[in-house]
Amino acid sequence: MSDGAEGSSLIAEFLDGMPLAAFTLDPRDIVTAANVPALAVLGERARGRNLALSLRGPELLEAVAAVRHNGAQQRILLRLPDEAQFRVKVSNLPGATPPLVLCVMQDVTSEAQNEAIRREFVANVSHELRTPLTAMMGFIETLQTAAKDDPAARTRFLDIMSREAGRMNRLVRDLLQLSRVEAEERVRPRESVDLPGILRAAAASVRQIAEEHGSPIVITGIEGRVMVPGDPDQLTQVFLNLMENAVKYGAKGKPVTVTLSRETTSRGEAIRVDVADQGDGIDQIHLPRLTERFYRVDTHRSRAEGGTGLGLAIVKHIINRHRGWLRIDSEKGRGSVFSVILPES
Ligand code: ADP
Repeated sequence: MSDGAEGSSLIAEFLDGMPLAAFTLDPRDIVTAANVPALAVLGERARGRNLALSLRGPELLEAVAAVRHNGAQQRILLRLPDEAQFRVKVSNLPGATPPLVLCVMQDVTSEAQNEAIRREFVANVSHELRTPLTAMMGFIETLQTAAKDDPAARTRFLDIMSREAGRMNRLVRDLLQLSRVEAEERVRPRESVDLPGILRAAAASVRQIAEEHGSPIVITGIEGRVMVPGDPDQLTQVFLNLMENAVKYGAKGKPVTVTLSRETTSRGEAIRVDVADQGDGIDQIHLPRLTERFYRVDTHRSRAEGGTGLGLAIVKHIINRHRGWLRIDSEKGRGSVFSVILPES
């Protein structure tokens, strides 16, 4: 590579042709050239300044020093104070005078975040499975030893074990469903379905628990057929989950109202279904996180109601697949309204 001004403009051109953030450093750690993605990380005024003034990354300065010292390329993971993460490759730029070090940075922030989410999910699943499993193992041992000849205890323990097995079964069912829905999310359903029919089918599926809670499900609003593009099984699942939640977390003895109406959205005409209960409602701080997997306002209550903490996550993914919206309107002490808005075309 040639020296002087011609050399530096060649280097600048070379860096500009790179899609990744890249910059060069002279022997005093002054940034001599940087492409646009690099300036986005280092700041617009980084050129001509010491790198340490633009970036808080002692590991990077150490890697640069190591490259100068022994010539071997270095690869590091750089974590910046704002949580951004970069994979950085540091190497000598061959033939440059004065000697230059080239740093190429690949933004891996979202990769790292996805990895953290995945790890947390696996930890949550393991924990959710381990709780009922530990209980069952304890009862099995008791039945084999202390309660071996006690028929009353045996009946009681088998009841508890059956409940715990049911909990594990629901969890596995919801996990499978979630992964299926996530896998299909990009493909919008093409079938045309009658929404009131779907609501009636969902209401029929929750009738038993609605009766146990004394909370009948009342469907009102637009009458007759209302067609929307959708997957019938998945839409039934959405309203089944929402109605079941409204019954579980609503007020005992008070109805759950499901109302169909029309709405004009930024993307055209849509049908809106409000599922409203008269329960305690939800504190505003929880609303943005409700559809996260395993997020519960009150874990104890959710478990007591047989919940897995996955119902609303499944709802969200199905609605995304249908290019619709989920709105949650709730206030402590005022009940909750979960609204599903589905485009008509
Ligand atoms: P779960 O299996 O725990 O019911 P969901 O994903 O369906 O899981 O719901 C997540 C949490 O949202 C619930 O644990 C509950 O705390 C809260 N929630 C959902 N629906 C309602 C509702 N209608 N009223 C009050 N809280 C609700």
